[in-house]
Amino acid sequence: MLVIIRSNYDAVLDALTSGFEECGFDPGSRKVLIKPNIVSPHKPTVGATTHPAVIEALLVYFGGRRCILAESCVVGVDTDETFEKTGLAKLAAKHGAELVNLQRASRVTKAWKFGELSLPNLLFECAYINVAKLKTHILTGVTLCLKNQKGVLADADKMRFHRIGVDRAIPALYDVLKPDFAIIDGIWALEGEGPGKFGERRDLGLLLMGNDALEVDNLGLQVMGFEPGEIAHIPDAHLGEIRGEPLSNVRAKFKRSKGYYKKANTFYYPCGACSGCSNAIAEAMKSLMSKPWKHPLKVVKFALHGIIGKRFFVAGVDAKFPEGRGAVVCIGNCSAKFAGENSLKLVRGCPPAAADIIDVL
Ligand code: SF4
Repeated sequence: MLVIIRSNYDAVLDALTSGFEECGFDPGSRKVLIKPNIVSPHKPTVGATTHPAVIEALLVYFGGRRCILAESCVVGVDTDETFEKTGLAKLAAKHGAELVNLQRASRVTKAWKFGELSLPNLLFECAYINVAKLKTHILTGVTLCLKNQKGVLADADKMRFHRIGVDRAIPALYDVLKPDFAIIDGIWALEGEGPGKFGERRDLGLLLMGNDALEVDNLGLQVMGFEPGEIAHIPDAHLGEIRGEPLSNVRAKFKRSKGYYKKANTFYYPCGACSGCSNAIAEAMKSLMSKPWKHPLKVVKFALHGIIGKRFFVAGVDAKFPEGRGAVVCIGNCSAKFAGENSLKLVRGCPPAAADIIDVL
């Protein structure tokens, strides 16, 4: 069963209540584990993270004391700090819910397509509700419920997923881990260069809900205007009965990601790279620009490149030459082969240190 509900964040408790009733969802006597999408400490107004109003409404609906709020951020971002900065820690305390940093959760080993994978025990002991965001993604096209599951992995496995190829690893993860219920927060959605602040917020005013996360993701793709088969990590699924708002009334055409980030004349192509390399580049740029007196020569050289040419960072196992001419620097061990074959500068590490990136500029 699928439900499409129009809502805003003030009325989200009523919207969720009617969605659960339409789908007949009942967690029974189990604890309820809520897995939001809080990848980084973005403000809710960016539209990149599950809105706190949705999380709070779930805590009220199920009764906070029987709920567990569980998440682990992308590689290189401190989850505990993010819980504080996003107000999740306060929300959990206010409603008596348990707050779990999944990086420290005890794990069970499961067999999966690529050998063995360790997953948090809690996901199999509780009624697991996946609460994703409706948004585009520079690497995978979109990030909905299936991709939101990547946040339950240990950091080492998050990076392994990128070496396997996320488009193959994410559906394989879904083979061994299925949520009991799936929700997509599309009230404030994100299009363009998601999943973070480079994307553009799109106020859609929709909640998508259902018992089957794969169907909910396929519904999300249709709402965003993606063609069947366009997003490699979400297998096509037949949509069952849809209640609430008719799908034909809510179809939109989301801006696709171009596959790179751009700031002035500096471009970053994350060719299959995980956030470890992406964050290292962001950190290097931040350090260079916020404390220019620390690296005066580098800043001048970097600025000159910005004026007379382009600077490209490429990372990831699928590293390739970007479109356009300019200085190319390969970031991280995943791009070492490409760098070697093409005699390009390489910053080694997994992830590399920001200081080492600044050194090669
Ligand atoms: S080298 Fe970079 S992209 Fe590759 S796994 Fe390590 S951090 Fe991720």
